[in-house]
Amino acid sequence: MNEFGEVLENVDLKDYNTYKIGGKSKYIVKPYNVEKLINLINYCKENKIKYFILGKGSNVILPDEDYNGVVILLVNLKKYNIKDNIVTVESGISLNNFIINLINNNLGGLENLIGIPGTLGGAIVQNAGCYGTNISDYLESVTYLENNEIKTINKLECKFGYRDSIFKSNKEKIILSATFKLNYKDKSDMLNIVKENNLKRKNSQPLEYPNAGSVFRNPEYMAAGKLIDDLGLKNYHVNDAYVSNKHANFIVNKGNASSKDIIDLINYIKLEIKKKYNIELILEQEIIKY
Ligand SMILES: Cc1cc2nc3c(=O)[nH]c(=O)nc-3n(C[C@H](O)[C@H](O)[C@H](O)COP(=O)(O)OP(=O)(O)OC[C@H]3O[C@@H](n4cnc5c(N)ncnc54)[C@H](O)[C@@H]3O)c2cc1C
Repeated sequence: MNEFGEVLENVDLKDYNTYKIGGKSKYIVKPYNVEKLINLINYCKENKIKYFILGKGSNVILPDEDYNGVVILLVNLKKYNIKDNIVTVESGISLNNFIINLINNNLGGLENLIGIPGTLGGAIVQNAGCYGTNISDYLESVTYLENNEIKTINKLECKFGYRDSIFKSNKEKIILSATFKLNYKDKSDMLNIVKENNLKRKNSQPLEYPNAGSVFRNPEYMAAGKLIDDLGLKNYHVNDAYVSNKHANFIVNKGNASSKDIIDLINYIKLEIKKKYNIELILEQEIIKY
């Protein structure tokens, strides 16, 4: 597979997700470009090799078992093109780097999203958002690969919702790039927002421990973290998987938590919330199954 990109063998996936969990993957491949990505996928299909795309692993719960397949990282797809206030960018770029580049070009809109530690592709799948802004707000179109074909669809066709899009349920679609229409804004104003938001995150989120952001979506008009906190579940734990003391909608890995520990803790929280409030919490993070 060396012809398609950089190949790593027998890799500990703990180093590729923000919970720091998971078994080993037989291969990780980082395709050099879109053409090589297409060739790699065709090769996997022809040879009946399993594969999946991983961004920065900041919204996933990877299994404890080893993966007998190829984890594809799009880290080499990070080119962007700016024409006035229209920007087209490849999906493997880190969201934070992308936003900093926009700010340096006096292009605003996405600065509230600074601090979300994923790739652009992962952010689009999930319609990532915070502090009143969602990635889809400034998005014009998305280009993806499916069944050997490259297609471009507009924002409406992406069916964005709260932490949702068509890419979330359809794993055959691989996001290659996206086009945004930004607003011209003063760079120093945006840098102030970045500073404020970084501080807000530092004060409210358990960034000192491995985690994957909010565990559950907020039910309508309610904060999942408050519901969990009101039940006295802060610090409740299954082995090393803890409900964070700082923010009850975060689960943190305080050492050697396994995927099973995290999922058992999630199920326990869901059960307690259902018993007490008759509310079905919906998982914001994605449990990956091989
Ligand atoms: C400390 C912390 C804070 C966070 N704060 C926020 C927040 O404020 N708001 C928020 O919305 N989220 C937040 N998150 C969650 C997470 O960072 C986002 O959901 C992020 O967008 C996930 O991107 P990723 O690249 O890590 O995706 P991954 O977790 O690697 O992947 C998620 C899913 O997307 C798929 N995927 C990734 N790239 C592609 C692609 N190119 N094409 C098709 N499918 C793809 C994967 O297969 C997987 O199914 C936070 C996480 C952490 C750890």
